[in-house]
Amino acid sequence: MPVDWVDFKSIKGKVSMETVLSHYDVRLRRVGANEFRGKCPLPTHSSTSSNNSFSVNFGRNAWSCQSASCIAARAGRVGGNVFDFVAEMERCSIREAALQLQHSLTENQTPRVISRKEKSVAHRLENRPLSFSLRNIDHQHPYVASRGLSEQTARYFGVGYYDGNGFLRGRVVIPIHNEHGELVAYSGRAIAQTKPKYRLPAGFRKSHLLFNLHRALQNGNRTLILVEGFFDTFKLHEAGHHNAAALMGSKLSDRQADLIGTYFDRVILMLDADEAGKAATSAAATTFSSILAVQIVELASGTQPDQLASEEINQLLAGFAHDAPTPDR
Ligand SMILES: [Zn+2]
Repeated sequence: MPVDWVDFKSIKGKVSMETVLSHYDVRLRRVGANEFRGKCPLPTHSSTSSNNSFSVNFGRNAWSCQSASCIAARAGRVGGNVFDFVAEMERCSIREAALQLQHSLTENQTPRVISRKEKSVAHRLENRPLSFSLRNIDHQHPYVASRGLSEQTARYFGVGYYDGNGFLRGRVVIPIHNEHGELVAYSGRAIAQTKPKYRLPAGFRKSHLLFNLHRALQNGNRTLILVEGFFDTFKLHEAGHHNAAALMGSKLSDRQADLIGTYFDRVILMLDADEAGKAATSAAATTFSSILAVQIVELASGTQPDQLASEEINQLLAGFAHDAPTPDR
């Protein structure tokens, strides 16, 4: 079939908001005859306080989210139709969204099979596993040692200098896995003052996973130490704490909070003690407070875990790393 035309009207007649919502596994509460309401599923939604801002009218086949930040992130649009919804979910154009819906319709004439397609769409949202891995990574590169990592730690995490081709050339690469341990991306750290400091593949969604989560889960540990960066994780590992995972930034996304709430009973927040980290710590503590036990490590102002020696890390964590009570669930 030709892929360069879109029959908007025909697609709109065939695909309901109901179909699209179930496709993305969005669950809402009925609040009226045709009206449903609940937590906003859009990637533009950053507010964690509004759990009731998203509403859908099945009669009109329309949706809206009333969260001000969510509206602002969608260039002032309050809501829309199925195309707008898919475009926002996929972060693509209206036309691409329509093409995607059309494709699933023409390939398989029934809504039943749209849900088969759910798998591939969900995969695209989930950072698809890579079909390759980089070779000839130098774990002994001076930059690795300059950040205070042993060669053994670098090998364990697969971290090292990459001199091959592509956008990671000349950087220290850090393999990133999903919670199942599948390799989904490499981040490339500049070794000099080159910008950007970190490079990630286009389309990679770091807010959809936590760095090192699959290893933190390995020993059945129900406590997670949450840090901001890759190197924080490495330093904690060297200090003997293998249950650390990193946000890859300071902002905790809803998805990351869900992952932590799913796998752990307790989270120890060890974010940077700068302005961003402090704000993120209090936001994360609020988010987690209703989900699991939260504890906060107080770092000296202006410091971050990757600057600390193992002894300092152990001192900070000694008070509550292993003996704090966990809530009943
Ligand atoms: Zn929203």
